[in-house]
Amino acid sequence: MPRKPAAPVEETLKRLHKAYPDARCTLDFKTTLELLVATVLSAQCTDVRVNLVTPALFRKYRSARACAAAPLPDLEEAIRSCGFYHTKARSIQGICRAIVEKHCGRVPATMDELVALPGVGRKTANVVLGNSGSRPGGFVVDTHVKRLAARLGWTKQKDAVKIERDLNKLVPEKDWVSAGHELIQHGRRICVARKPRCRDCPLGDLCPSAFTFK
Ligand code: SF4
Repeated sequence: MPRKPAAPVEETLKRLHKAYPDARCTLDFKTTLELLVATVLSAQCTDVRVNLVTPALFRKYRSARACAAAPLPDLEEAIRSCGFYHTKARSIQGICRAIVEKHCGRVPATMDELVALPGVGRKTANVVLGNSGSRPGGFVVDTHVKRLAARLGWTKQKDAVKIERDLNKLVPEKDWVSAGHELIQHGRRICVARKPRCRDCPLGDLCPSAFTFK
């Protein structure tokens, strides 16, 4: 955890935006339901892999109703290469059943309703809200955002919900979605987990963790 002052939020966001002007959700989807399903599949899996699996999956199951009624082994087979396919298939089916039973087959558009769906946490709900035109519920805290928020000195928390709370306070609401995408890109390309590339980082003079890694 850095001892120097935290990176100034406004300037950091400005530089990240300049470095990643096209940062966006890297999951492919056409509907909010597809986004929700793809987000569930992306746990412990790369977005690239998810994007290979979802075109056939979404052709086969075109609605929450179709997915809710699918034989579980068929659903498992369709998502097998994303890993943890028993758990993910059960989770997707449980979510789709709840959407059919409680929301007439439409994905709800509020944080409270989304996190009431079985197995949907704040991270998934924030991805869905932030990328479907709804009002974002908060910052998406994935593994990259978690790491970067700590390195930039923006949080001392370890728990994702508490980190989200810190980031929601620090970063203006209008920037939650774009800054989330930009931090994720930065975590993938420069501020990687093991040996962050501080020499190539546009935040080098702002970041309290710069050049502290061996
Ligand atoms: S790459 Fe280095 S300077 Fe850049 S944000 Fe990460 S730790 Fe800080």
